[in-house]
Amino acid sequence: MTIEQFNFAGKKAIVRVDFNVPLDENGNITDDTRIRGALPTLKKILKDGGALIIMSHMGKPKGKVNPKLSLGQIKDAVAEALGAPVSFAPDCAKAQEAAAALKAGEVLLLENLRFYPEEEGKPVGIDKADPAYDAAKKEMKARQKDFAKTLASYADCYVMDAFGTAHRKHASTAVIADYFDTDNKMLGFLMEKEVTAVDNVLSNIKRPFTAIMGGSKVSTKIGIIENLMDKVDNLILCGGMTYTFAKANGGHVGQSICEEDKLDMALSVIAKAKEKGVNLVIGTDSVIADSFSNDANTQVTPSGEIPDGWEGLDAGPESRKAFAKAIEGSKTILWNGPAGVFEFDNFTAGSRAIGEAVAKATAEGAFSLIGGGDSVACVNKFGLADKVSYISTGGGALLEAIEGKVLPGIAAIRGDK
Ligand code: AMP
Repeated sequence: MTIEQFNFAGKKAIVRVDFNVPLDENGNITDDTRIRGALPTLKKILKDGGALIIMSHMGKPKGKVNPKLSLGQIKDAVAEALGAPVSFAPDCAKAQEAAAALKAGEVLLLENLRFYPEEEGKPVGIDKADPAYDAAKKEMKARQKDFAKTLASYADCYVMDAFGTAHRKHASTAVIADYFDTDNKMLGFLMEKEVTAVDNVLSNIKRPFTAIMGGSKVSTKIGIIENLMDKVDNLILCGGMTYTFAKANGGHVGQSICEEDKLDMALSVIAKAKEKGVNLVIGTDSVIADSFSNDANTQVTPSGEIPDGWEGLDAGPESRKAFAKAIEGSKTILWNGPAGVFEFDNFTAGSRAIGEAVAKATAEGAFSLIGGGDSVACVNKFGLADKVSYISTGGGALLEAIEGKVLPGIAAIRGDK
């Protein structure tokens, strides 16, 4: 079933959204992107004449009630965004009456799901090494099913629209779907957009396809790099991982971030790229600094000739040119992770060069997908957000999807577990 086809008239819909929005110390929302992201789905349900039960997590309360993470704080903001009054259920597992009383066009917001350990389904207060852990886990999984069943009992249909948590098999993101038949569960519009965007870079690829992987470490991105190796024409590896590659090639990297135990991994990436005919682009020069600070002294050196006491914090001018050249003319682009310590204004040049090249290629017809908190922050910092094709709302979920993993939140709806 698709949300577009479904008619919510006279139905109660329970919708899992990602309202894990950042709050300031007074409980005010500092960035409402996630609320805005869910609006198309929520508004369609109300417009059809349905009643809406909204559920989400916020932060990491670890199975305990924590007033600082109460969704009650965002009730008014949700009402304003929806243009409809919102009532609040202060206990998400005891909202039967409030849900039963809901009429068409009305909205009920449930309290933070993660106030219950059943949401995540992980036993609390017991170490994995404890011999009793397995039994505790089994018991918690059974409780998770009951919790999901309770949530499901509030509504006639279920909509999953929380891409940011779609890689988690939680009560509200996946387990709940078992309590609805195929015709009464569906992905929301945001999920559909994310799934299409991922599909564009994993299956529906227009060539040349260029992937840009940056960030701090190669070890956290290796699964994605390996999956992409079979698909891309150009692979740009940048950011801190540059120095693991430079060292693996026999270079000297000074104090640069470098995973000494991943040198073999780096060499095998280089070998695989060669074997598969992938154009691997790793920055040959770097902007190096004499301390990890925005005001450090800097100079440009080859990435494998960094003196002791210095560290590479950004891509050098030759590297930036090489990145832009690989991106130019691409028809599919995926960017995850910055090319330098972009949080420091003096070390943004590499990430900026990439962002600008991606924007230019997009203007010339490429599909560009930007994902992962830091690359999204880069694109926003450089004012390029409306010059790329799609900015994913999911960090971990996007990365797992690109790695080729089936996300539980999608599998639960589509049945391809
Ligand atoms: P990740 O979470 O792995 O995507 O890494 C993102 C972080 O990598 C950002 O906070 C960047 O500041 C950092 N980063 C990028 N390039 C470097 C570098 N050359 N040295 C140290 N950190 C870096």
